[in-house]
Amino acid sequence: MLTESTILHNGVKMPWLGFGTFRIESGEITKNAVLEALRIGYRHIDTAKVYENEKSVGEAIKESGIPREDIFLTTKVWNTDQGYEETLKAFNKSLEKLGTDYLDLYLIHWPKDKNIETWKALEKLYKEKKIRAIGVSNFKIHHLEELFKETEIIPMVNQVECHPQFPQNELKAFCVKHKIQLEAWGPLMQGKIFDKTLIKELAQKYQKTIAQIALRWQIQRGVVVIPKSITPSRIKENSEIFDFTLSNEDMELINSLEGDRIGPDPDKITF
Ligand code: NDP
Repeated sequence: MLTESTILHNGVKMPWLGFGTFRIESGEITKNAVLEALRIGYRHIDTAKVYENEKSVGEAIKESGIPREDIFLTTKVWNTDQGYEETLKAFNKSLEKLGTDYLDLYLIHWPKDKNIETWKALEKLYKEKKIRAIGVSNFKIHHLEELFKETEIIPMVNQVECHPQFPQNELKAFCVKHKIQLEAWGPLMQGKIFDKTLIKELAQKYQKTIAQIALRWQIQRGVVVIPKSITPSRIKENSEIFDFTLSNEDMELINSLEGDRIGPDPDKITF
């Protein structure tokens, strides 16, 4: 079922499958893509201030007629808005653009120098019940450990690059230990997954598509996924991952694929 959910460490339900909106142009393109996802049954949308499409995401949610409380909505505080006061301001701007008075999940988009102050602002907003869950993105183990030392609340989610070529096994184990839900961005390797021979073979074996194998592998290993597509047939295809199970052997085979990240290393970002 498309709304199958994980339960975060504070008891909030988060659907395993969400809809990503990175690089979707604001305006009609975003609005139509989000409306299509909601029509098909997605109830979890991921955006960010820096995607510049929060307004269109908000419009789609309104236009869908689906009650706001039935949708799990995530946005993120951008790097240049880090800091206590700056984050509080950025949060209000995001709410305004999204046309909502609360968020389901607010994430620190990338680890930067002001993680601690930024996190304290998120804690304040969480305690005021303006956000149902707070989390981080692109945090490595050392970033999380630094945060633990100086703040009160353990993040509920860590959204990181994660796909068969970069399964994040060590970080995943660390997150499981601390009850932090791992969430995969780029679960289709931003379109590059389609050349992987093993995934192609498994797609044949299970009579599913390459995208469905890659997404199913994630939810089966306990990782939330947020594939992005502006193509209606793919939006539907990516949602059809709850009607089959990969065998333990095939899960292991995918786990053993080797490679590296395709996106920036969080310790080396310059933006
Ligand atoms: P994805 O791995 O979701 O790949 C998206 C690409 O795959 C698009 O080109 C899309 O094409 C294509 N695609 C989608 N479904 C299919 C399919 N079934 N068959 C063939 N091609 C397909 O990459 P993203 O980077 O978008 O990651 C997902 C989401 O994660 C983002 O949208 C964003 O919300 C979040 N994210 C977060 C980051 C962070 O730093 N926290 C960084 C990057 C992403 P098309 O649209 O043309 O159909």
